[in-house]
Amino acid sequence: MSRLNILLLGGTAEASALARRIAEDNRFDGTLSLAGVTRSPKPSPLDMRTGGFGGVDGLAAYLRQHDVGALIDATHPFAAAMSANAAAAAAAASVSAIALLRPAWRERPGDRWIRVPDMASAAAALGTAPRTVFLTVGRKDLAPFRRAPQHRYVVRSVDPPPPDLLPEGAIFIAARGPFALEDEERLLSEYRIETLVTKNSGGTATAAKLAAARRAGLPVVMVDRPPAAGPAVPTVDEAWEWLVARHREAAAARRGV
Ligand code: NAP
Repeated sequence: MSRLNILLLGGTAEASALARRIAEDNRFDGTLSLAGVTRSPKPSPLDMRTGGFGGVDGLAAYLRQHDVGALIDATHPFAAAMSANAAAAAAAASVSAIALLRPAWRERPGDRWIRVPDMASAAAALGTAPRTVFLTVGRKDLAPFRRAPQHRYVVRSVDPPPPDLLPEGAIFIAARGPFALEDEERLLSEYRIETLVTKNSGGTATAAKLAAARRAGLPVVMVDRPPAAGPAVPTVDEAWEWLVARHREAAAARRGV
């Protein structure tokens, strides 16, 4: 049986789950690509490559050189540059591509969300009066909060941000999800958090902070997602079905059907 060669752009739990399925199925070969931003990424059963491709042209060249038959963009919903590059490079190299984009979180009864389009607006939404703010926006996106030094920040991310990105006087917590509701409630109370700031990442691993904020009656500044770059499916199962269909198509094309 001829195998279809997959390039899987990762950095998410969904990418890891899909990597396991690809590795276990002899219809596919696959490579998991990571940006190389996390210090100790989880091991994968697929071959791994790390680091940027060098923009659209670099990725298109990679797709051709490695005879990639299908591309899955399972990067984070906020990895907008990579997703745009993936869609453009796949089109340039005539490779079938899809994004695996987990559904966004939706506001529920009891939530006090302030929805904003970007990180600068999130910092502005905190207002001028000093507040104690739980910042869970990732370590790359802290700059606007440095420019709002009236607030006291508790910053949580997987790896520590470079010291020049951390807001002055911020408390830093290194942690990787999944997080439990009781731990999130304890954290909000221990640090006397008044407002939570988060990206609308979706998924279950980091959703407990939203329930904890709801139960404590705290406002949540919610940064909306950038628009998707191309066609997308919401679940690992649907991405898998898409891959199986691409394999079937490739096999039919080889038989000249
Ligand atoms: P980004 O701004 O969209 O990407 C910046 C550049 O990093 C891309 O142009 C690309 O460089 C390189 N890159 C990104 N993802 C890559 C991948 N999977 N494989 C190879 N190169 C990659 O991305 P980001 O927001 O910095 O995110 C970086 C990684 O962290 C992604 O893999 C994403 O899934 C993960 N992540 C991001 C967030 C978030 O909130 N943004 C949260 C959790 C995990 P070239 O142009 O040179 O190819």
